[in-house]
Amino acid sequence: MHYDGAHPITRTGPAVPRAIERAHLAQKWSGIGYNFVIDQNGAIFEGRGWNHQGAHCPGHNRSGWGVQIAVGGDQKPSDAALRSARALYDEACRRTGRTLAKKGHKDGIATLCPGGPLYVWVKAGMPAPAGGTKPKPPAPKPSSKIVALHGGVRPGARHSQVRDLQQLLIKAGHGPIKGAVTDLYGPETQRAVARWHDLNPKFRTGQHDPDIGPRGFVALQKQAGRR
Ligand SMILES: [Zn+2]
Repeated sequence: MHYDGAHPITRTGPAVPRAIERAHLAQKWSGIGYNFVIDQNGAIFEGRGWNHQGAHCPGHNRSGWGVQIAVGGDQKPSDAALRSARALYDEACRRTGRTLAKKGHKDGIATLCPGGPLYVWVKAGMPAPAGGTKPKPPAPKPSSKIVALHGGVRPGARHSQVRDLQQLLIKAGHGPIKGAVTDLYGPETQRAVARWHDLNPKFRTGQHDPDIGPRGFVALQKQAGRR
């Protein structure tokens, strides 16, 4: 975590990264040295981003992502800015699959950065302030309409629609499907389909048919209440 510097910052919006860019270009850097910059409204601006090495703290530019909240001195970062910083931290952990250390600039080198209030927040574990709107990934809604079976949904194959098939089978009482829910039409899914076929023999093409088939898939959906 970084702050801007000694003086309180009143600007918000694109003026924030532009000012940093001007300053860092003047130092002959390749643009903004931070990976991300956050203004007091909580807007996140991409500097070097996720995939390029930052230039924000000697010895830590490869091992850490640098994020600046555009405050200065003892200026208190807004709740919106802290929420955005925490969201970036969570995303960084998600991308690496690790619990990353939370550090202020002064943990890496002798400096006043990231200033008193921000450093206290980092040391407190970067708690996300309550309230505000949390960006949520859109949850895929199960269809309430009957959909056609995709040609790629076959025993042994992978297809995103296999998840739907597995959920329908479980809902219909033909689970458990070990390892569900995945996109793999594996042996467990095939056994569940065979169990469904045993109760709905007119849709099977042979004994213990592991292939749901287009007509069977429609019938299974109708049983689940789809129209
Ligand atoms: Zn700094």
